[in-house]
Amino acid sequence: MTTAELETWLRETNPARLETLWARADATRQAHVGDAVHLRALVEVSSHCTRRCAYCGLRAERRNLPRYRMTAAEILAAARQAAATGYGTVVLQSGEDPVLDADRLANLIQTIKTETPLAVTLSLGERRAEELAAWRAAGADRYLLRFETGDETLYEAIHPDRSGRAGERLALLATLRNLGYEIGSGVLIGLPGQSYTSLARDIARFAELDLDMVGVGPFIAHPATPLGRGEGPAPLPAHHQVPNTEAMAYKVVALTRLVCPEANLPSTTALASLNPAQGRELGLQRGANVIMPNLTPRSYRALYEIYPAKACLGETAQEGRTGMEARIRAVGRTVGRGPGGRRRSATGHGA
Ligand code: SAH
Repeated sequence: MTTAELETWLRETNPARLETLWARADATRQAHVGDAVHLRALVEVSSHCTRRCAYCGLRAERRNLPRYRMTAAEILAAARQAAATGYGTVVLQSGEDPVLDADRLANLIQTIKTETPLAVTLSLGERRAEELAAWRAAGADRYLLRFETGDETLYEAIHPDRSGRAGERLALLATLRNLGYEIGSGVLIGLPGQSYTSLARDIARFAELDLDMVGVGPFIAHPATPLGRGEGPAPLPAHHQVPNTEAMAYKVVALTRLVCPEANLPSTTALASLNPAQGRELGLQRGANVIMPNLTPRSYRALYEIYPAKACLGETAQEGRTGMEARIRAVGRTVGRGPGGRRRSATGHGA
């Protein structure tokens, strides 16, 4: 699909036409990754962050937010619980926290890999190549690092610490690939200043990067951030500005499936937060094949406030697992077993 065609779809509002998009995405999902929905246990290991991303509630300048960092024992307990509850992957996510250094985390990864059958996915932000190498050597399997937006001007405007280095996340993805990680990336949908054209290019880029995983979700304004206070980039005129709506998020999920037929695509928490009753299911029916239930200890979960009113703030691990399984079965799908890594077809990625 060309960038122009992607943009036309992003602008589509006709319900009958959109039904054909959902159907194509669902058929592509079925043909390439099947009916299994893989559950990844998300453990938010630290809310400390040195960065000042203009959209994120964990930004360093937010001084009134109590911060936490899980101990190695707590993280290991969460991983054991994930394995015992039947998950195949644990995702360790955090702010950019220098205290989680190469050694501390490498030991932990090694222990998880020795004691459990879990695949280990890291989502710890922009880290030094030596750290990424040490964690890979310790057994980490995958790394998630969204490039957030491919529009360099917009990227610089919302990442004040490292302006002029917009390409850094893309360069890091190449580093991660060379280290042998499965790589995941993605973007925010509906950032103020994000145009339809730039979002269409971002979707085309997912295919060029040959991503193993793609996470996309609506931007949700947090009142304690510059974007939430209206201090960031100005929205574009309505016919250029991508809205941060649920409907737009489904279009991006569906189009991502069409351009990356083999990738693992989560139906994201941000989507579920816009529509707690149905968001996850509709994501699964429009191209997604992964769900990431939250296994962060409940006392910490509300403090990992990247945006307000995150879905699943109260659920326990077992409720999360049982509830999720019921939702998956209700839409005619099955729960995936094992690590659920990317399956590559002999011909490589499709068009
Ligand atoms: N520090 C890590 C993990 C960040 S949280 C990193 O930078 O990669 C994971 C994702 O949450 C981010 O990549 C971002 O796309 C998303 N996110 C952050 N703030 C958000 C917001 N206000 N609304 C929606 N998604 C947000």
